[in-house]
Amino acid sequence: MKTPSTALVLLSGGQDSTTCLAWALERFKKVKTLTFDYGQRHRVEVEQAGRIAKLAGVEQELMKIDLFSELSRSALTHHQLEVKAGEDGQLPTTFVPGRNLIFLSLAAMKAYQLGIRDIVTGVCQTDYSGYPDCREEFVRSLEQTTSLAMDTQFHFHAPLMRLSKADTVKLMNELGHLDWLKESHTCYEGRRPACSKCPACILRLKGFKEAGIIDPLEVES
Ligand SMILES: [Zn+2]
Repeated sequence: MKTPSTALVLLSGGQDSTTCLAWALERFKKVKTLTFDYGQRHRVEVEQAGRIAKLAGVEQELMKIDLFSELSRSALTHHQLEVKAGEDGQLPTTFVPGRNLIFLSLAAMKAYQLGIRDIVTGVCQTDYSGYPDCREEFVRSLEQTTSLAMDTQFHFHAPLMRLSKADTVKLMNELGHLDWLKESHTCYEGRRPACSKCPACILRLKGFKEAGIIDPLEVES
């Protein structure tokens, strides 16, 4: 039985948010998607998000945010900086401070406008690069804050929060939409298939390997 309401899925075009889209379609009567174009170095991600929304047959809204490069020195928004994993308790160079704070707040504003109360995000605190705004505690806190701010009870769903990358691959397999992952984009350098060198690609490849499932992106079509 599906919940008779509409959910808004934050669709980046990555593997996690694509899995969240399939998850939401199982649970909600109607699903809409929201994609942010924030000047990310892997621009192809935005295009892929559009392809995935089309494959899933859902509406996609594209929202442009121009401020991120001014507000942070992240390698994601400053293309000349090197992508590096965090060492000695440091955050990776791809960390954009406050990114999920802004994304989820804007999603809540959009949801409010559309009369939607359920928002689905692919954030995950397992297997991740230590981004503080991927933690459960943060998501619950912002759910409460946006609900108070708009005097509306929002529900922030983070179905991947405690899953490893391998578990996420298995979940997508169970949901029956593994093929959508062919269109999902991971590489920080914009490469397709995965470059196998950047931290994001390493995580992706490891996840598929551990799940014992072949990444459809790696298969020649
Ligand atoms: Zn890569």
